[in-house]
Formats: sequence, C-alpha cells, structure tokens
Amino acid sequence: MNENRLFAIFGNPVSHSRSPLMHNNVFKKLGYKGCYTRVRLEDGSRLKETFFTLKLQGANVTVPHKEAAFDACDEVRGFAKEIGVVNTLVNENGRLIGYNTDADGFLFAIEAFKDVRKVLIIGAGGTAKALAKKFKSQAYDVSVLNRSEGNLAYFKADGFHTYSWEDFKPEAYDLIVNTTSAGLSDENYPAPIELLTPLLKEARYAADAIYGRRTPFLQLCEKMDITYKDGADMLLGQGVLANNYFTQSNYTLESIQKHMAESFQY
Ligand code: NDP
Repeated sequence: MNENRLFAIFGNPVSHSRSPLMHNNVFKKLGYKGCYTRVRLEDGSRLKETFFTLKLQGANVTVPHKEAAFDACDEVRGFAKEIGVVNTLVNENGRLIGYNTDADGFLFAIEAFKDVRKVLIIGAGGTAKALAKKFKSQAYDVSVLNRSEGNLAYFKADGFHTYSWEDFKPEAYDLIVNTTSAGLSDENYPAPIELLTPLLKEARYAADAIYGRRTPFLQLCEKMDITYKDGADMLLGQGVLANNYFTQSNYTLESIQKHMAESFQY
C-alpha cells in the first residue's frame, strides 16, 4: 500500500507530548509511509468519532482519556482487557482495536533497579491500574496511595493494600512510583510533603511516570539522595511496543527501539 497512514496522540493537555517526534523518527528511518500528529481532545466520549473522522490508522491515548479509550474500542486485546485501560488504538479494517503498552514499558524502564519486592504506587488512575496489575503478576507486594478514596475501590476489590492521605502510615518500600499527574504542569507533590519525606527516607528507589521535566517529586528524591528515574524510559518502552502494533510487526523491536531512542536527542 502506497498511501501515507496517519497516526495521532489524543490527550488534554497534549502539547507536551514527545510521541510525534518518537514515532515520526521511526517511520522515517524505517521507510514506513506514516505521519504522527497530536490531537487535543476535551471530551473523551468523542474519541471514536474523532479517530474515524480524521481517518487515523492508529493512535496513542494519554491523560485523561485512557479509560474512555477502553470504552470506545470494538475489541480490546491482551493486558488492556484485564485493566480496562487502553493507551494504543489500531484501525483494523474499520474496527477499533485497543491495547495497553504502559506496564511493559515501565518494567523495561526499571530493569536496573535490583531486588524490588515491596512497591508503593501513588495515584489510582489508569497508569496506576496498569502498573499495579503488572507488579502483582510478578509477585510484588503492592500498595496504592491516592488523594481521593473513591478511585481506590477498584484496587481494594482486587486485594491491594489501599490508603488515602488521611489513613496512610509511611512504611519502608523498595520502590515508590508517582503515577499521578501532580507535577505535570504544576508544582504540586503527589501527596502531602509530611507523608512523602518519611517515605522517601526509607525507600531504595523512586520513579515518576511524568517525563520531560523534573517534577517536585523527583526534586525531593534528588534532595534525599534516592536513585530515581523519570518517565522517559517508560515512554520509550511503551512507544516501541505501540509502534510495533502500528506497523503490524513488520520490523524488529530492536530497530524500532534504536530509532525511537534517537528521537530523545532532538
Ligand atoms: P489519570 O487521569 O487516569 O489519573 C490521575 C491520577 O492522578 C489520579 O489518581 C488522581 O487522583 C491523581 N492526581 C491528579 N492530580 C493530583 C494532584 N494534584 N495531587 C495528587 N494526586 C493527583 O492519569 P494517568 O494514570 O493516565 O496518567 C498519570 C500520569 O502518568 C500523567 O502525568 C501521564 O503523563 C503519566 N504517564 C506517563 C507515561 C510514560 O510513558 N512516561 C505513560 C502513561 C502515563 P484522584 O483519584 O484523587 O483524582
């Protein structure tokens, strides 16, 4: 097929997204006729309609529409089905197929963190769900701390230790992960600093799903001398797997990863 295929990332906000640079570099270097752009979407219920109006071949979905993306799909495959959260969409003969590549992307990112068993996830949104389930499948001991009680119900029902800010007592965790959007475009911590300081004192590693800026959470990790990662490696990992779906496994993961990683130098 010779026609150029169009891809996009849906989110709100979305202007910060590196996904267009990442995917376009892969398309260009691998000689795939594709073009990847950004779409700021306010109303998640319009995702499917917008996807087909724009004649997209595939898309990624970011905050706050990953659960709406799950609802929009004609079929959801693999790990996304377990968690009800979709970050990758593919147009398969006019049907919208959903996948989730975030959790495997995160495992790729923390490969260098050794002997992690006890994990605290801060946040209870789509990313937290994906990571919590994935960690559990690897037999990690997982706790979830969130600002509001309501979004913890899903985790409670699934047997995770769950805490709101009000009932949380800091313990020693191997890894603390910020999956909230606090710090994405503001100067907020993901939890009150009175909770974070004793937590980080006892922790071995920290990670933030946010990329492209040193969040207040990561600034605090640095101040407290903890080994940490920002979301760039996670972004790379999820992007490689998404691109493999977009290009229908026609290229090796290694070649996709190589060219996607190059785009981080731009
Ligand atoms: P969701 O909208 O599904 O969830 C957001 C979560 O953040 C909720 O638990 C919410 O709490 C919490 N939250 C929002 N604002 C604050 C705040 N000021 N203080 C404390 N908690 C807050 O988002 P996602 O799970 O989809 O994404 C979360 C973050 O992860 C985003 O910043 C996104 O950019 C990043 N991300 C990065 C990826 C990467 O590849 N590096 C991949 C995926 C996501 P409440 O329930 O109380 O509302």
